[in-house]
Amino acid sequence: MIQKAKEILQKTFGYNEFRPLQGDAIENILNKRDSLVIMPTGGGKSLCYQIPAMLFNGLTVVVSPLISLMKDQVEQLEEFGVPALYLNSTLTPEQYRQNVNRLRAGEAKLLYLAPETLMMEPTRQLLSELTLDCFTIDEAHCISEWGHDFRPEYRQLAQVRKDFSDAVCVALTATATPRVRDDIQQILEMKDSDRFVASFDRKNLVLRVVDKENPLDQILDFLYTRPKQSGIIYCFSRRQVDELYSDLKHEGHSVLPYHAGLMEGERTRNQEAFIRDDVNIIVATIAFGMGINKPDVRYVIHHDMPQNIESYYQQIGRAGRDGINADCMLLYSYSDKQKIQYFINQKEGTEKEVAEKHLDALLNYLDYGKCRRKPLINYFGEEYDKKDCGMCDNCLRQKDDLQDFTVQAQKYMSCIARTEQLYGAYHIADILRGSEAKKIKQNGHDKLSTYGIGIEWSKNQWIQLSRLLIRNGYLEKDQNHGSLLITDQGKEVLKGNERVMGVLDRTKTTADGEARPRTSSDVEKKYNEHLFEELRKKRKELADERDIPPYVIFPDTTLIEMSYYYPMNEDSLIAIYGVGSSKLKKYGDDFLPMIREFCKKNNLEERTRGLDKKVSKHSSGKKHHRVGEEYNSGKTIDHLAEQFGVKKVTILSNLKKYLDEGYSLEPGGFLDASSLSERKKDEVFASMEKVGPELLKPIYEELDKTVDYNELRILQLAYMAQNGE
Ligand code: ADP
Ligand code: ZN
Repeated sequence: MIQKAKEILQKTFGYNEFRPLQGDAIENILNKRDSLVIMPTGGGKSLCYQIPAMLFNGLTVVVSPLISLMKDQVEQLEEFGVPALYLNSTLTPEQYRQNVNRLRAGEAKLLYLAPETLMMEPTRQLLSELTLDCFTIDEAHCISEWGHDFRPEYRQLAQVRKDFSDAVCVALTATATPRVRDDIQQILEMKDSDRFVASFDRKNLVLRVVDKENPLDQILDFLYTRPKQSGIIYCFSRRQVDELYSDLKHEGHSVLPYHAGLMEGERTRNQEAFIRDDVNIIVATIAFGMGINKPDVRYVIHHDMPQNIESYYQQIGRAGRDGINADCMLLYSYSDKQKIQYFINQKEGTEKEVAEKHLDALLNYLDYGKCRRKPLINYFGEEYDKKDCGMCDNCLRQKDDLQDFTVQAQKYMSCIARTEQLYGAYHIADILRGSEAKKIKQNGHDKLSTYGIGIEWSKNQWIQLSRLLIRNGYLEKDQNHGSLLITDQGKEVLKGNERVMGVLDRTKTTADGEARPRTSSDVEKKYNEHLFEELRKKRKELADERDIPPYVIFPDTTLIEMSYYYPMNEDSLIAIYGVGSSKLKKYGDDFLPMIREFCKKNNLEERTRGLDKKVSKHSSGKKHHRVGEEYNSGKTIDHLAEQFGVKKVTILSNLKKYLDEGYSLEPGGFLDASSLSERKKDEVFASMEKVGPELLKPIYEELDKTVDYNELRILQLAYMAQNGE
């Protein structure tokens, strides 16, 4: 049986392997053993019942509260050539009748139902005439009062389930708390059932927490590097949504808002536009997301702090369902924390207690100095024992980025001590900077020995230092007054027993200067973006003709593989991810000729799997040749400086010489080495375009001296490498 299941996975769905636990769950279900399947969003729950449904003789009923998703799910199945239907209140009476007739005629393997529909007498009557082999309950956490989405009508499912005692029962959810899991099994009386709990580590999500400073600019910097990609930006309030939406629109971004204050029609339209790739960005409150099945959401930004870890996890979970890397960036500010605290203070009793616990857990995550996956995954009761995930800001930050701030920390903390730990971060910064503010004079703080000893830094830098000290556990904020308190660990710094190492500026929203997150494969790194764009356009055209979302035709992953392997015939096309026999028949003739023509025009050949060769290079022995070759093999400028025991600027001049001799260099390494935002980089390139790239001084002047020479030297090389000069 499981062999047959695998065949369906490959032939119908076009996937090579089962994901962890899918195979086990499917086998269990095929053996008619009740199963509870718990996987994170995007984990691949649907296949767990869809594949058995295709192997059972009778019908599989799928109960789901997400009416808006049913159409999407059925369309997706039909594209794969799996006969499926749905019954819910969105159908016209005529469509409803038609679907009932098709069911009676045995034309469907899967039937999606809203719980209300299932409870209606005619539906139960209808089902009793049919053979039911599998009774599936999606979003099963809705059955539990302990879940975040309790729906009373779900309680009655237990009763209905008894009508079909011969059918195997499958319950699925992405909710992880043990309490809810127990509830599901108990209420559905799945006595003898087996649990399949997948890991909640979403490995392809890159997690970042960034200090919020100028959120609009920070978000613009981020978006600049991701044109044409789909993303969601979550805000705390409707007002914030409207404001950010109009700012982004004003900047020329393809964006729409979504919140409960909009008319229902507009909300639906905006959501639909996002799903169909008519718009790239949705700015939304937490109202957005339930019932979004879009697999290619490439980023989720939190403009404001989320309420708690559970909703944060759910929201970032909407990114990267297709398994390709996706970015999750949270803008963190102390005043957001205070806002949430304010709301919590309005509450009472246990409700307040619970909310406070949630906030603590969230803050623990935000302030965590090591791998972020640990606090996140631990929260869901799972151990995380890897040290370095390579996919969160803390792990990606290179060791050399850590700087020693012991001296400044000592100044800062002794100023706190001298003012008896009664003041907040801003006041301490003012004292250190010798401010003339009234509050300083009134308190006699201009008489302190620490008054004015911190002129060398801006106020902003001192504030950033205070955040670093809090993050690293040297300082604590007084819960009630916000004044800074020195911890025992902090006292060690004052005594000179401990050094303070860290990163001061955590406001960058683009990953310049960090190590690259690992990409899953060569395919993702090296696919042909031009072909990808052409295929994407074709996909959008086909989708609009058929009135379905583009991803239902093929997910991005499929187009990316096409743009890497260049399949020229049906045999190689079917080997591509997500291409099964039905889609091959439907779309082969749309995509194959495009790929062939593209390859012909660009002199490209089909790539065979597993045969990517690495070309080895030999060296002439001259130092700048060695530097050039090592650089091209992927080493960073910093690495080379260390390896050759010289300064960075020497490496840069070696590389310049190499270029000047007519050799080529990869521009990517220079771009990575620059710490400017992409937006600023392009400004620099525009100046080079204008005054020429050779001499740095005119470029420096052209940019109003806003970019220093070191940066210009790096970008000069990037520019020349790119333009083959
Ligand atoms: P969930 O319901 O758990 O949120 P889905 O069932 O929607 O997740 O699956 C998420 C994505 O992963 C879908 O695009 C699906 O086609 C894909 N997928 C599922 N199983 C596999 C597999 N074994 N191999 C490749 N892709 C898969
Ligand atoms: Zn990590």
